[in-house]
Amino acid sequence: MKVLVVGGGPIGLEAAVLLVKTGFEVLLVERGSMLAASVHLWRHVHLFSSNDLNCSTWGLHALSELGDDAPISGGHPTGSHYIESYLSRLGAWLASQPLCTICLNTTVDAISRGGLLKNEQVKAAGEHARDEQPFEALLVKDGHEEVRVRGISAVLDCSGTYLNPNFLGRGGAPALGERSLRSSASQLAESSPGAYEEPASRFFFRGLPDVLGDRRAAFVASGGGVAKFRRVAIVGCGYSAATVLLQLRELAMQMPDLPLEVDWMLRREVGKEPYAPISNDPLPTRASLINMANAIARGDGCPANMTVRTHRGCAIDELSIIPNSDGTGGCLQLMGEERDEANAEQPMNVLTDVIVSVVGYRPDMELSRELQEPAPPPPPSRIAAARGARPMALASSLLSQRIAAKGTAAAGDCLQQKSAGAELLATPEPHFYLLGSKAYGRHSSFLLKHGHDHVKAVVDMLQKDFAEEIP
Ligand SMILES: Cc1cc2nc3c(=O)[nH]c(=O)nc-3n(C[C@H](O)[C@H](O)[C@H](O)COP(=O)(O)OP(=O)(O)OC[C@H]3O[C@@H](n4cnc5c(N)ncnc54)[C@H](O)[C@@H]3O)c2cc1C
Repeated sequence: MKVLVVGGGPIGLEAAVLLVKTGFEVLLVERGSMLAASVHLWRHVHLFSSNDLNCSTWGLHALSELGDDAPISGGHPTGSHYIESYLSRLGAWLASQPLCTICLNTTVDAISRGGLLKNEQVKAAGEHARDEQPFEALLVKDGHEEVRVRGISAVLDCSGTYLNPNFLGRGGAPALGERSLRSSASQLAESSPGAYEEPASRFFFRGLPDVLGDRRAAFVASGGGVAKFRRVAIVGCGYSAATVLLQLRELAMQMPDLPLEVDWMLRREVGKEPYAPISNDPLPTRASLINMANAIARGDGCPANMTVRTHRGCAIDELSIIPNSDGTGGCLQLMGEERDEANAEQPMNVLTDVIVSVVGYRPDMELSRELQEPAPPPPPSRIAAARGARPMALASSLLSQRIAAKGTAAAGDCLQQKSAGAELLATPEPHFYLLGSKAYGRHSSFLLKHGHDHVKAVVDMLQKDFAEEIP
């Protein structure tokens, strides 16, 4: 009874631990060189949920079996601390279990259902013909060695979304020139996510650079012994954009003699604060992040040497490189439209040295391309936008919940979501499940706490389905 867990992030690890504790054999495959490789990319960021919400009961139990202390209750760890104090310990527990095999530096490239093509042996809901054939997976180790694994009874796809950022162009489409900047970015080492660095004075980040840490040099140029801030454009208006903005503010405070110019590009209309505060927010660090970012947008709360220009109602059409006349260095140009104070459309043309694109992430469904696709339950008629767009069941339900919460105290608070039941986690492909942030599609409201509930619901279902085969 082998279960393949794709991705050794927080949810893949939790799933693997619970599966092993339930008696399943687990193959845990992680594309990075370490477990929790995606969390490692944002290791400098503080989680706004506390450890009580970040750790599962079975995970804490595994730590106690290792003789480890539980992470400090109520603490808000950085990604780095979360890995050290908890996730790496789950990995250590799994490594000590004969039922678990962990493969690092290995990508799950494709999953298939034995010899069946996607459209074969499809029966009505509830009649499982395809599950008579076990799954097979094509793994790619160290970027080149291909390995086929057969005899897999169930697959939990916990591969997350962080490695698949959205495009920043108008309507989510690539801006002209964006693809070529992105492909240069993806060739860089994993430790420098999304950085475009050739020639050395221009940078394009897709994700959260550590402004105060290992990516500081991208924001502060030092030529001939003289330090100078580079111009920075931030695109996006999620919590990641707020995090980058606050890190830049901190950097400006550390170097008060140097002027720092930031262009912040938001789709949100003129006349509204970038972030809608959540009333009586149960997560105080989230509340303070929102308040500080809104203050910066109003022109408050920045040191005298930092200027932030907010561009509202932005649509970006083109990114280009403007080289210096001698062909070296130069800067980046963003062109498109924005809205002025009177809400009228105006051309936008911003020159910058660094672009930080934090416009969200989406799931990459390529690895399950030969499986039956996750489909929505019959959606409420109000969410017509989601219909026909192949939304996943859980993502579709979240959209419904968001629409229902609009204008209420729960709006915008991911803690208020109802946890998904088994029926939303099942896909039309028997024993293939999406878990973790990937199950949320493009919704940014995933919380580890909900992910743990989903893991428990799916492992319970598998235990029931395979009761006769597990010891
Ligand atoms: C900056 C930031 C802050 C956040 N803060 C919080 C918070 O405070 N509280 C909270 O509850 N949530 C928070 N989240 C949301 C969420 O909990 C995290 O994104 C979390 O890491 C999601 O876990 P995951 O296991 O679903 O995905 P990931 O952490 O993305 O893990 C997926 C793993 O799969 C691997 N992988 C991908 N593709 C493949 C493949 N084909 N084959 C093999 N391996 C693969 C990746 O390398 C990665 O290690 C935050 C997210 C971000 C980005």
